Amino acid sequence: MVRVRFAPSPTGPLHMGGVRTALYNYLFAKKNNGSFIIRIEDTDQKRYVPGAEEYIQEALAWSGFEADESPAKPGKYGPYRQSERKALYKTYTQQLIDSGQAYYAFDTAEELDEMRDKAKAAKMPNWQYNSVTRNQMRNSLTLSEDETKESIANGDPFVIRLKVPRNEEVRFHDEIRGWVVVNSSNIDDKVLYKSDGMPTYHLANIVDDHLMEITHVIRGEEWLPSAPLHILLYKAFGWEAPKFAHLPLILRPDGNGKLSKRDGDRLGFPVFPLNWTDPTTKEQSSGYRERGYFPEAFVNMLSFLGWNPGTSQELFSMEELIEAFSLERVGKAGAKFDAEKTKWFNQQYLRMQNNEALAQLVFEKAQAKDTSISLETLSQICGLMKERAYFPDDLIADGDYFFSAPTSFDEKTVKKKWKEETPSIMLDIKTRFDETDFSAEALETAFKAYLEEKEIGFGKVGPGLRLCITGLGMGPSLFHICSILGKDETLQRIDAALEQLS
Ligand code: GLU
Repeated sequence: MVRVRFAPSPTGPLHMGGVRTALYNYLFAKKNNGSFIIRIEDTDQKRYVPGAEEYIQEALAWSGFEADESPAKPGKYGPYRQSERKALYKTYTQQLIDSGQAYYAFDTAEELDEMRDKAKAAKMPNWQYNSVTRNQMRNSLTLSEDETKESIANGDPFVIRLKVPRNEEVRFHDEIRGWVVVNSSNIDDKVLYKSDGMPTYHLANIVDDHLMEITHVIRGEEWLPSAPLHILLYKAFGWEAPKFAHLPLILRPDGNGKLSKRDGDRLGFPVFPLNWTDPTTKEQSSGYRERGYFPEAFVNMLSFLGWNPGTSQELFSMEELIEAFSLERVGKAGAKFDAEKTKWFNQQYLRMQNNEALAQLVFEKAQAKDTSISLETLSQICGLMKERAYFPDDLIADGDYFFSAPTSFDEKTVKKKWKEETPSIMLDIKTRFDETDFSAEALETAFKAYLEEKEIGFGKVGPGLRLCITGLGMGPSLFHICSILGKDETLQRIDAALEQLS
């Protein structure tokens, strides 16, 4: 039974890399008929940001990843928030102390600094608390049992460190990277537990993954350096480690470095799923949702940042992603974020929406321009505009002429297409249109009949008429636009344009 977890820390808004990690976990779980679990890793109280957990939940819900177990939907492995599991961490840390695999360390911050400075002076800058140096420090390995007990009884601050063995090979198989081998002498005696009663990330993470029976740990590459330590911890507890898969980094569009939280608004695209306002600095960051992205487009785009289906198919519904996804098709190399491609995905999903749904989305914006606009008319407008739009707002912004007559006329088109004979042609068209029924088909027929009769080409009439009606040189089907505007408005616009342009 596959069980995977997404384990964010509520230290700020969820970066889109985090959403990608959640997505791959979700897809892997669903593909394997397993469970997708959300666990909130909130043991680092210094970095706790109010509102971040709510943000994470909202972002995951918007993206469409429903958890099988989470703080909001507890299953039998709860609680799902680490701050509510404190007692467990204490018990398990004690277990490591009792079996001699962890120890108390009483060194103060000053003492540790002093050791680092000394090492630096001796040209050994990377001082570590490890199997060699621990023998010169103040800990339960160098103090007597009585001294240790006394210090603890006195309330001296301490941490509990893992007793990392010297010169042992630590190896594990990563599902994406293959075998990873590290010598334990390169790993320091990491702090597992602090005297404030809080575990560190490493301890809590391993205890929870074990107790929650997690089978696969799928997480970002930034955790790869921690994995050997985690393997050592599993070994110390005598537990079987889960399988690991470390996902590739998401890189900046130019491939230069990791896409960071700061990049988004600077480079002109969101890096967060939803808008976020920092509660302390009030700094605002934009989100995909508010920018007008469909969650399906956002997810489809994310799915390709590190994975590919091995075919040329690019558009995938969530069901199709679940069907196609596998860790074997996740690459090791960093995946470049592509802002244009991201917009392209949204365009595809916008085109797939039906016109009524789009009209609902932009109804309020449209009403602000014209209070009398009906949903039906707006649906027709959306139907016409959607081929060229990337975002729902474009439907309105690019179709300003549906709401008011043009007051200016595209200069280039005027120069090229508004000829001496154009006004009289426009008057003819006006007469023909006046006699026709105002469906797009009837208008087109009348228009074509006129061209044939006069033996003139479309290029002599179409652009001029479009100028009169929209003020622009390009746009969707002119006959549909006229039909939506109606007879009175269309004829009036021809008159008004003739007055202004002649
Ligand atoms: N809490 C860690 C984070 O914020 C989880 C890392 C992991 O998945 O092990 O990314």
